[in-house]
Amino acid sequence: MFSLQGKIALITGASQGIGETIARQLAKQGAFAVCASLASTEGDLQNVVAAIKADGDQADYVLLDMRDGDSVRAAVNTVVERHGALHILVNNAGITKDKLMIQMKEEEFELVLDINLKGAWLATQAAARPMMKQRWGRVINIASVVGQMGNAGQSNYVASKAGLIGLTKTVAREFASRNVTCNAVAPGYIATAMTDVLSEEVKAEFNRQIPLGRMGTPIDVANAVLFLASEEAGYMTGQVLSVNGGMLMP
Ligand code: NAP
Repeated sequence: MFSLQGKIALITGASQGIGETIARQLAKQGAFAVCASLASTEGDLQNVVAAIKADGDQADYVLLDMRDGDSVRAAVNTVVERHGALHILVNNAGITKDKLMIQMKEEEFELVLDINLKGAWLATQAAARPMMKQRWGRVINIASVVGQMGNAGQSNYVASKAGLIGLTKTVAREFASRNVTCNAVAPGYIATAMTDVLSEEVKAEFNRQIPLGRMGTPIDVANAVLFLASEEAGYMTGQVLSVNGGMLMP
């Protein structure tokens, strides 16, 4: 498939779910996968790294909190110091705090925006210098179908994901002259801990809305990320790649 031999990749939110699968898939194709998430889940990160190494691929981890600029900058600097480069940044870390607009607290709006949108902005800013200097880079933001279409009960999350799409297009324009691309992947409903909390009834309703008739899996998303990270996607920037089973055809 697409070779990432020699590339250093930083994947945020890689302790589980989509981020873990992205890390495993990029490593499988030859990248050195640096997995990142909160210190509170260091054990999970260690397990992910051990599993990648057990497959004969390369990985290590850094701890960071996407809410904290110093911690995000320190994590990116650690990657560059350890490995001498950073080629691929996957801004995947994200949370939900769902409530109807009229019930949502200001802190719940801010928390989701801080992690999902400001965190990606911080990591991208920190990665800009090494990527531009080496005249090669890939920034890949994990957005969401709901950022493209809206969703009742998710005003904070939808605003963060729609913002991420706008950020993607702007970074694409700012970094293009240095051969650094920036694209987004917009997954539909993917079976992970984030969607595990939905009732069987809600899941069945989603499946009815999805032409392919099923929820997606993390590898469906990871394959799109792999493509965008590859040399072969070098003429794509500022784009949103939908991985949603046909649920939305923007
Ligand atoms: P998940 O299983 O809940 O994983 C979320 C990841 O984000 C975890 O590794 C978590 O790390 C990390 N994270 C959360 N807060 C963080 C913080 N403050 N600093 C650093 N890392 C933090 O979620 P998922 O379903 O895999 O989702 C991954 C991404 O895909 C998210 O951006 C999500 O919005 C997006 N997405 C998911 C779906 C879906 O249906 N699942 C659909 C569309 C888009 P800890 O373990 O340390 O908390």
